[in-house]
Amino acid sequence: MTITQQDVELSELARGFLSREVHYLFIDGERVPAVSGNTLSTSAPSTGEVLARFSSGDSSDVDLAVAAARRAFKGEWSTWTPYQRQALLIRVAQVLDERFEELAQIEALDMGSPISRVRNSKQGLMRMLSFFAAQALSISGETLTNGIPGNVSTMTLKAPVGVIGGIIPWNGPLNSQFWIIGAVLASGCTTVLKPAQYASLSVLRVAEILHEAGVPAGVLNVVTGRGSEAGTALAAHTDVDRVAFTGSTETGQKIIEASTSNIKKLQLELGGKSADIICADANLDKAVPAAAMGVFANSGQVCYAGTRVLVQRSVVDQFTERLLEYMTTLRVGHSLDSAATLGPVISESQLDTVLSYVDVGVSEGAELLYGGERLGAGGGYYMQPTVFGSVTNQMRIAREEIFGPVLSIIPFDDIEDAIEIANDSDFGLGGAVWSENLSTALRVVQGVHTGTMWVNCYGYIDPLVGFSGTKLSGYGAKGTAAHMDTYLYTKSVYIQL
Ligand code: NAP
Ligand code: MG
Repeated sequence: MTITQQDVELSELARGFLSREVHYLFIDGERVPAVSGNTLSTSAPSTGEVLARFSSGDSSDVDLAVAAARRAFKGEWSTWTPYQRQALLIRVAQVLDERFEELAQIEALDMGSPISRVRNSKQGLMRMLSFFAAQALSISGETLTNGIPGNVSTMTLKAPVGVIGGIIPWNGPLNSQFWIIGAVLASGCTTVLKPAQYASLSVLRVAEILHEAGVPAGVLNVVTGRGSEAGTALAAHTDVDRVAFTGSTETGQKIIEASTSNIKKLQLELGGKSADIICADANLDKAVPAAAMGVFANSGQVCYAGTRVLVQRSVVDQFTERLLEYMTTLRVGHSLDSAATLGPVISESQLDTVLSYVDVGVSEGAELLYGGERLGAGGGYYMQPTVFGSVTNQMRIAREEIFGPVLSIIPFDDIEDAIEIANDSDFGLGGAVWSENLSTALRVVQGVHTGTMWVNCYGYIDPLVGFSGTKLSGYGAKGTAAHMDTYLYTKSVYIQL
């Protein structure tokens, strides 16, 4: 397997943005250096070269950003009507539609996701913005009957909570930031975002573009920097009302601890080790490529990746043979190779982690059927997509989130066995079942303890339907009207007439 090369030429806009000496923080509608003057660099995972430098914010910058967000929350923004906020969201969608290629190129370079994958995510982003534009007009309380003697009228009101801290991982920030920005604009909240060090650029660029598109100063602020500095300061800040966090379970646990400073409500999307269950009667023509890409998409750096592929014993050989055939069609390349299906992983240290899990799998007795090695002679952080057979659910490669392109085939005997294996996990994020029999599929859907299940498909996410986790995968809805709960609070009102 060889690494394919870049064939997409950077647009002038993307080139202009990337040529900046330092990418500053974005606070109160302005690009500003960190108070300390410190900077960090981000690399292009496809080459390992430094792509850009950006400001390394700490608690002083978080203080400034939170203060700006608070001022904006109390200021003119609080008088915007739902129609105005909806119109702004529609304008944001139009501008992103126009500027998407530039953003996709920045994202692909900074985090290594194949450009085709980022381009394909545009439709999902547009759906998300339509969803939030609709939410802007759908915020309502209730009138309630009561048992109070006399003439008392009662109701509930929904109101924006205030300043939202948004902490984002590196595996798809261009899109994932909009779960927060969309809800902030729909609800009338304001936000301070802290993107991941490895991939901050698309978040900084979006903040500028949205400000030009009419998002008022202070409504959307970005403080880049280390999780251990900017992230901890934001999570603990007593003037941040709520935190929406996407990232690892370990960091999620720290965010919960930090939230005690002012009893912040949290929305946590954490890790996963999802089971993709292939029954004997599955349509393998569809199940094989979908199960493969359910792991290898984004080089396995997807929280809901179906990394435990549970296959009914009677079809394990057939499934494995077809999967190994499919593996030869995968194209690993530079994130700006328009035909690459897999890019590099995010960093040298992530690559080391993934490779160390390959060693763990081999030493635990799993059968290395495909891949398992670094690709190329250094430079980019490329990994061969990897398949393990004869995996048991007790092995570490079946229990721990690897966050790399490693698929484990775990045989099972019958449906109840599959459900038990699927549930024998600390996580509960995604999962799927492949069967031509509706009763079988529904039994699995009912039996697996997880936030999201797919039947004869993998990875669809629509804000109208939602996506969330249970167990160590976190809590708090993404999508559906429940998403707005993180951004609104309920006030009970009693009116003596
Ligand atoms: P991570 O290490 O938890 O980092 C996530 C974010 O938190 C980054 O911005 C990070 O900053 C920041 N951070 C780190 N320590 C912090 C602290 N003590 N306080 C506040 N913020 C802190 O996760 P990651 O390695 O970037 O991303 C991979 C993980 O995210 C995987 O476990 C994956 O499953 C999960 N994920 C989940 C979903 C989902 O929807 N459930 C989606 C995507 C990813 P720095 O990185 O800049 O230090
Ligand atoms: Mg980078």
